[in-house]
Order: sequence, then C-alpha cells, then structure tokens
Amino acid sequence: MSPQDKAPATAPRRVIAVMLDGLRRDFITPDATPALAALRARATWFDAHRTVFPSVTRVVSSSFATGCRPAHHGLAGNTVALVEDGRLGLHDVGRPEFVETKRRLTGTVLARPTLAERLADHGGAVIFNNVSPGAAYMHDPDGHGHVYHRAGSFGPGRRPIQGDRALEVTPDAAGDRAAAERFIAEVVHGGRPAFGLIWLCEPDTTQHAAPLGSATHRAILATADSHAAMIIAAVARARAEGEDILLLVGSDHGHQTVRAVIDIDAELIEAGLKAGPGSTDVVVAPNGTAALVYVDGSAEDRIAAIEGFLAERPWVGRLFTRDSLAEAGLPAGGGLAFAIALAASDEPNAEGVPGLSYAAKPADGKADRLGCGQHGGLGTFEQLPTLMLDGGGFTAGRTVTADTSVIDIAPTILRFLGRPIGGVDGRPLQEL
Ligand SMILES: [Zn+2]
Repeated sequence: MSPQDKAPATAPRRVIAVMLDGLRRDFITPDATPALAALRARATWFDAHRTVFPSVTRVVSSSFATGCRPAHHGLAGNTVALVEDGRLGLHDVGRPEFVETKRRLTGTVLARPTLAERLADHGGAVIFNNVSPGAAYMHDPDGHGHVYHRAGSFGPGRRPIQGDRALEVTPDAAGDRAAAERFIAEVVHGGRPAFGLIWLCEPDTTQHAAPLGSATHRAILATADSHAAMIIAAVARARAEGEDILLLVGSDHGHQTVRAVIDIDAELIEAGLKAGPGSTDVVVAPNGTAALVYVDGSAEDRIAAIEGFLAERPWVGRLFTRDSLAEAGLPAGGGLAFAIALAASDEPNAEGVPGLSYAAKPADGKADRLGCGQHGGLGTFEQLPTLMLDGGGFTAGRTVTADTSVIDIAPTILRFLGRPIGGVDGRPLQEL
C-alpha cells in the first residue's frame, strides 16, 4: 500500500497545477527563484523532463490536456494550415475563434478527450489561463468544465460567464498576480474542483521581449516565483485543514535566444519552389524556432525538390518528411509535408545564458525578436521545461533522472484521482 492509499476517504483528493509559461528548468536557483527552489527541496523534481514538438504553447497545452502527442490530439502548431474549399489557408491557433474554425473544417478541435472531459462527472476541472485565448481553450474546447480567460470565460456547455465572475486581467505580470489571487480564493479555497489549473503568462511574455539573463529577465523570474509562492502557500493552508492535494508546479517549454530570423517563404519563392507571397501551393506555418510546411496536391511534384532545398539550408536543424512525421509525434494528412526544427546550439548569448537558435519569421509580420527568447524546436534549452510534483505520494527531495514528458502529466493526474487512464500516449509518473 502506498502512502497515498491511506488518505482518509472523507477528504476527496484533488490536484492543483501551476504552470509558469516558458520557465526554463535551469533558471530555477535559490537566488533567482527562491520559492521554487524551496519547493524543489520538498517535491519530486524531474531532471530529464521534455516537452513535445513543436515546443509551442498551444500544442503543449493540448498535450497537457490530453496526455497525447500532436499525432493523436491533432493540433500540430501554434500556427497551422487547414484546408478550406480545397485550398490551404494559414490559421493563428491563438485567436479565440480558432476553436470553431477547426471544428468546422476538420470535424473536431482535439481528437482525444481532455482532463476537463474525463473529470466532468468526477469533481470537475477549473482552469484559469492568462496566455492566448487559443491556448486557454485547448484545455476544454468542448465545454466540459470551467475555463477563465480575458477573451471569454465559459462554464459547462461553453455557457459564457459574464460580469464580475469573468476573468478580466491583462496578459502581463500584474494580470498573472490578479489571476493568482482569484484562483486562490475561488479554486484552492473556494470551489475545490478535482482539478484546478492556473497557467500564467510569465516569464514567457517578458522572455520574448528581453534578452535571457538581462536585468529585466531576472526581475520577471523573481515576480513569477512570487506568484508561484502565493499558490504554494495556499495549498499548504488547505492541506493543514486536512485536504489531500497533489501540487504540480511546472512549465510547458523553455527558451533559446534568437540568433537570426529566417523568412522561409521568401527563400522558397526565390528558389522557385513556391509561387509567391500568400500563394496556396506551398504554405509555411512559422512556429517560433520550428516551422511546418504544407504542400497542396497540385504541387506534389515539387516535394522532392523542396526536401532537397531544405536539407541544405544552414538554418535547418532537423528536417522531418512525411515518412518521419510520426517519429516527431506529428499528425499525418491535411497537406503537412515537412516539419522543421530550426538549427540550435548550446552556445551562450551576450548575457552568458546558453542556447542559440534560428527562428522562423512570424506570419503576421510581428517584430522580429533578435537576441530575445523564443521556442518551438528541439534545442537543448527550449526542451527544458520544469516539472515538480509535491505530495500525493511523490517523495520529498527526490530527483528523477528517467525521461519524462508533458504527455505524462494527464495520466499522472488521472491516476492520483483514481480515474481510468486509457487513450493517452504518456504514462503515470507514479510508476517510476
Ligand atoms: Zn508557452
């Protein structure tokens, strides 16, 4: 009998998860993040934890929610191409309307059940989210639980939650703090659902706009640490009242420093492999330090030439073709022909923080982020998310060196809550 089996039946188990978007595991130190470092000492720490590919928030959110790689949940990027009226079109998954667009064009949003669906009749899920609307809604696209986001909060059946009950906070540190305060009052000490998740936008937002290791970056790490500390303390108070809570504190991916920005569309056009800007024969979906390349059936005879061209680009790190998309955990079909992890190295940036990568020029012409943080690919430090599990039978102070992944989180939560685990790619970390 494990310790968790001895919990009194009168205290229903629940899970509180705190995700600090983009928090690189090696940024957790007693000086930079004292609360997280202190939690590490009394939690189980996962020292070979990785994320999925592409390592972008909306994809990782889908993998967190379903316990599956993109190949099975069906969302391949933060930006993807979908076929509409026989033509490939580029879509920003972050937009609030993407959920309905994806459902209309492909029949489903996510092809596997989320934690919110699995727990709908078993204590429920409440999600507070301060990143993009698309990432928030991937936790529960079909409306089984509660999702709170500034673009719209929803209860079961995607019934809108309005007025004071909605979550109207800014996508920055101040908004994270306001969201954390409400989460503590309404979820940790309030509704007490079986699964409460808060996904905060920092340090990711600041890392995209400031050099890793800069004073601005160090300040936001301290702020993100203080937000985690608020929730960690709230969980401690609930436990002191006799509650059996598994606390998860982690992140979805790390960051690399952008060494150069590549306009993949322009390179393909110049090489004669894409008709022109905005053409639908070959469509590139930039995903930070990764990119997806879709090829229309009418351009099928160019596949070999595109592969040959990409394979020789110095900015291509790993090139996955149709034959190896499954190896990358990516879904086949829908015109997806190539996935690129842009070239990465472990060299330091100007602040001495290791990890440099090429990045794909964003589709919407957003400012290039040369010298700042980015992610999406397979570089060492973007594949360095954080995972700590505290309580729930996880050993205090243990360091797990076995490979683990964000796809293991959903089965771990389901196991703790005593729910069936079928249909996931990951495995419960209690088995380690
Ligand atoms: Zn993220």
